[in-house]
Amino acid sequence: MTLSDDELDRYARQIVLPQFGGVGQRKLKEARIAIVGAGGIGSAVIPLLAGCGVGQLTIIDDDVVDTDNLHRQTIFRERDVGYSKADLALQYVQRLNRHVRAQPVQTRIDSENAQDLLAGHRLVIDGSDNFATRLAASDACVALGIPLLSAAAVQFQGQVGLFLQQPCYRCFVGDAFDADDCDTCAEQGVLGAVPAAVGSFAAMLALNTIAGVGDSHFGRLHLFDGEQLSWRAMRIPADPGCRACGSVEG
Ligand SMILES: [Zn+2]
Repeated sequence: MTLSDDELDRYARQIVLPQFGGVGQRKLKEARIAIVGAGGIGSAVIPLLAGCGVGQLTIIDDDVVDTDNLHRQTIFRERDVGYSKADLALQYVQRLNRHVRAQPVQTRIDSENAQDLLAGHRLVIDGSDNFATRLAASDACVALGIPLLSAAAVQFQGQVGLFLQQPCYRCFVGDAFDADDCDTCAEQGVLGAVPAAVGSFAAMLALNTIAGVGDSHFGRLHLFDGEQLSWRAMRIPADPGCRACGSVEG
């Protein structure tokens, strides 16, 4: 896949990076990434991936913008209240970068539809706000062999994990939350800048992973403390009895 003159100009500041270069830029252009949730995490991830030139974005969200989303979901405006987040995210991408193809999907991911919705993607970034969706997306990624980047933020804390088959996100959280569809932000609150920090970190990890920059981060969880303003990383052990990845070769 070649880059046009317009693309070479547009991405010049990152193509000049020796670790990235034209090879990295072409890998981004070839990539098709699914983003689950166009909320606070998505508001950081979507502009960065579209701006940096990821070729195709699938944006999956069944929700509409609410007034109390606006402090953290920065791609939306006051006039967007009541309208589909997936459609608004598509408009945002179209205005930002005409080289990116975005597809909005106004559906809630569940265990029935997840594999159909996520098949064919190079990477899935989950920035949804509930465990039922996260686990459905994770199980589908394990079954499909697609890497999953899971990002979450609540109160002053955030976490970003990258998984490929084993260990998986379910190894990390267990089976207790499948029926739990609580909106954690609604119940526990979140400072507006926390999902932006966590989402920007997730975008960085996604771009590095697609372009092949830096070390592999599979099976690692990065934890953000927004009060101490620090990050730390830990390794996630595989659960041999995990019902999603337990039978998959590690
Ligand atoms: Zn697992």
